[in-house]
This record gives sequence, C-alpha cells and structure tokens, in this order.
Amino acid sequence: MLGHWVFWIGALFMVIFIRYLLFSGLYHYVLRLRLRDRLRHRIFHYEVGAGAQVRREIQRSAIVSLIFAAFGILVLYLWQEDHTQLYLTLTGTRDVIWLLLGPLLFLLAQETYYYWIHRWMHRPGIYERVHRWHHESIETTAWTAFSFHPTEAVLQAVFLPLSVMIIPMHALAFLTLLAIMTLSATINHAGIEVFPARWSKVPVVRGLIGATHHDVHHKQARYNFGLYFTFWDRWMGTESPGFRERFRRFTNPED
Ligand SMILES: [Zn+2]
Ligand SMILES: [Zn+2]
Repeated sequence: MLGHWVFWIGALFMVIFIRYLLFSGLYHYVLRLRLRDRLRHRIFHYEVGAGAQVRREIQRSAIVSLIFAAFGILVLYLWQEDHTQLYLTLTGTRDVIWLLLGPLLFLLAQETYYYWIHRWMHRPGIYERVHRWHHESIETTAWTAFSFHPTEAVLQAVFLPLSVMIIPMHALAFLTLLAIMTLSATINHAGIEVFPARWSKVPVVRGLIGATHHDVHHKQARYNFGLYFTFWDRWMGTESPGFRERFRRFTNPED
C-alpha cells in the first residue's frame, strides 16, 4: 500500500519538476535570449545567475518539487476519501456559481495566507532558518521560481489540502490554479517585466504583482511581500514607494 503512494509521489514529482524545467527554460530562452534586443529596456539585469546560482536553484527546486508532489498526492488521497469539496460535474446552479467563486476565494485566501506567512518568515530567527535560501538569489532568474528551503515549501504547500477541504472548486479550476501558481512564480522571478505599460492605469489589473514588484522584494526585503496582488502591501504600508516609477521606467523604451 505504501509502495503504491510512493510510486504516485515519484510520478507526480517527475511531472512537476520536468514542467518547471521546461517552463523556466522556455521562458528564459524566448524572452531573454531570443527577444533580447526588442525587450532590452524591460530586462533588469544581464548577468543572470552565474551557472553556479542556476545550478543551486535547480537543485533546491528538485527537493521542493518532491514536497509539492507529496502534497499533490495528499490532495488526491483526500479527494478519494471524500474529504474535499472538489467536484467534477456541473449538475446545478450551485456548481456553476462555485466555478467562479471557488477560484476567486482560493486566490484571495492564498494571497492572505502567503502575505502574512511571508512577513513572519522575514522575522529574525525565522528568516535564517526558513526563508534565506530563497533570498540568496538577489538577481533572480526563471529558475528561482521554486528555489525555497524545504520548510518554506511545506508552509506553502500546506495551503493546498486545506483549501480543497474548505472551498468548493471544480477539479479543473483547481488544476488551472496550480498552473497559475507556476506561471506567476516564473513571471515574477525571471528578471524581465512582461506586463504592458498601460496596465498601471487599468483598475484591478494594476494591482497584480509582476516581475518589477517582486524584484524589489529580493533587493529590499522590507517591501513587497505579496504573491499575486498588491492590496495587502498597500493596506499595510509595505509597498515599495518607488515601485510605480520603476514599473514606468521598465515599460517605456525611450527611458
Ligand atoms: Zn521570490
Ligand atoms: Zn521574502
């Protein structure tokens, strides 16, 4: 029985880790190498991780992928045992309403959980033991996306089984949210601003966290603790004062 679960954790680990390698590699190759000249003004730094940094990030990400896989299988187990609110069919109005409401609640709950756990991880004594591994990448790369200490990976992953037990979500919506988590982590660490300049003027969208926002966090750790949205940083006064100007500078080719 145990061997059965170990097999599935191993299989899911391969999926998560290979997806991470392909996704980060492709993102780096296309945006930073292929389109380098067109996007030059959007790239924060050229000395992207000396080989040693990227190697360290990938090694750490392998352990993190294994932890994420274990939690992924835990979600599957909970589903099998009927302990989750995940569903597969759209049989009534309730299922249709939760198709949108579920992911929305998930994102807001994860944002809140992450913002406060992240602030806690920056406390002296905790930082050194749990969060410093992630911050060793000051000039972040697409591979920094999963580069965490195992304890931090557990703290992040524990949200997943909790969320599926509490929030009703369509299984495909939940899978989409997992893909968004990876996509957002890659975008935020790749060292290149990909959001259009006009987004800073569009309501709601202007509150999304992108590469400029999170890059500031790696360089000035007392600002920008959010995950997907900036609202907690704005409410708690932890948003970098220079963020809007920095975003304008990196999205305008003339500057
Ligand atoms: Zn980061
Ligand atoms: Zn941090």
